[in-house]
Amino acid sequence: MSLTPIPPWVFSIDPYPGESISHFLGRFSRENYASLSHIGSKAGIGAVLGRWEKFRFNPPPTGQQLASLARLVRLKPEQVQQMLPEETIQIRVIRLCAACYVEEPCHKMKWQHKFADRCNHHQLRLLLECPNCKAKFPIPSQWAKGACKRCLMTFSSMVSLQKKT
Ligand SMILES: [Zn+2]
Ligand SMILES: [Zn+2]
Repeated sequence: MSLTPIPPWVFSIDPYPGESISHFLGRFSRENYASLSHIGSKAGIGAVLGRWEKFRFNPPPTGQQLASLARLVRLKPEQVQQMLPEETIQIRVIRLCAACYVEEPCHKMKWQHKFADRCNHHQLRLLLECPNCKAKFPIPSQWAKGACKRCLMTFSSMVSLQKKT
């Protein structure tokens, strides 16, 4: 395998604990002013990032794809692996614990685990939509502003509207 040189434009970012791959890819692409298809082609893995950002992992990522991405984003392959789901997920409804978002502004992969409905850390029900206007949350790679796209309510200010478990 010939290694693609690391482009000089790469500005690396650290993942938040538990951050989902979609959210990380969105942040990385914005920090580097590069589209995911550009990043995918620079990493030599083609168009898979467009699927991963939507949490579509069928077929599952290969070790070589993860290693190539890791090299480009300047992380260890294990760090990229940790942003993937550990169990079956659902992808139709993007979920949010706003209290977690206040502490670390990111989408956590575990919120998409199939049976996740609460945040055990905060004893709060996960939000399945904007509690103000009922719009669905966009895929996490598009969480640039940390706010509802329709009514602009910030994710942080949704904490008081989260139901206790
Ligand atoms: Zn939480
Ligand atoms: Zn809204």
